[in-house]
Amino acid sequence: MPSRTRERSTAARSGHQPERRCVGCGTRRPQAELIRFHTRKTEGEALRVVPDASGERLGRGAYLCPRLACLELALRRRGFQRAFRAAVELDENELRDALKNRPEDNEQRQVD
Ligand SMILES: [Zn+2]
Repeated sequence: MPSRTRERSTAARSGHQPERRCVGCGTRRPQAELIRFHTRKTEGEALRVVPDASGERLGRGAYLCPRLACLELALRRRGFQRAFRAAVELDENELRDALKNRPEDNEQRQVD
């Protein structure tokens, strides 16, 4: 089934802003509204998910809405593992802290 009409209208509405999909809720949002995570190699040669706070944009990224609810969803659904296509390690507290640094949406505690 061709779905060109829908794709075109979506593109027009969002302008030229790149959109990324949240690894928690799966919603597509402008990249600027999402928190980016990437992986870093640990001493044990494992891949660890870390927030891309500095905007280095190294390697493959995973994106998350700045909401704790989405982080919980991502953890439950193994969204990070799927995004990085690897058995990545993650520190839940570190990821929660990354969201806490984005207070604008955190206060609302929205749950879909
Ligand atoms: Zn989300």
